[in-house]
Amino acid sequence: MDEPRLIALDSNAPAKPEYGATCNGCGVCCAAEPCPVARVFLWQLRGRCRALSWQEEARRYVCGMVLYPDRYVTLLPRCWRMRAGVFFASRIAAGAGCDFSAEIEDVSACGEPPPHI
Ligand code: SF4
Ligand code: SF4
Repeated sequence: MDEPRLIALDSNAPAKPEYGATCNGCGVCCAAEPCPVARVFLWQLRGRCRALSWQEEARRYVCGMVLYPDRYVTLLPRCWRMRAGVFFASRIAAGAGCDFSAEIEDVSACGEPPPHI
């Protein structure tokens, strides 16, 4: 990610961990730009990934392409949800450490209007 950009995240989202640390579902990477799965299967080339999903109870973001890909991939039947989700989980290296190295600056306390992508 080369250019600075504003992203909006839930105020209860965890802070982004260090690069390489366990992913905590902060959502920063997916709010900043789509991953290869989103580019290939959702045809989304920029902006906040539309499969990024906030889970209120867990207070973290999750990948909708892992949990319910049939909501996003039009031709994918509901009965393939689990199988496709396992596939997408392997493609995004779910469970691996944080692989997003961008520098984060919190501007929420700067008196600026709520950021939008
Ligand atoms: S990979 Fe990193 S930036 Fe992306 S959700 Fe996980 S912890 Fe956050
Ligand atoms: S497909 Fe999943 S991992 Fe990839 S950018 Fe979207 S929400 Fe994030």
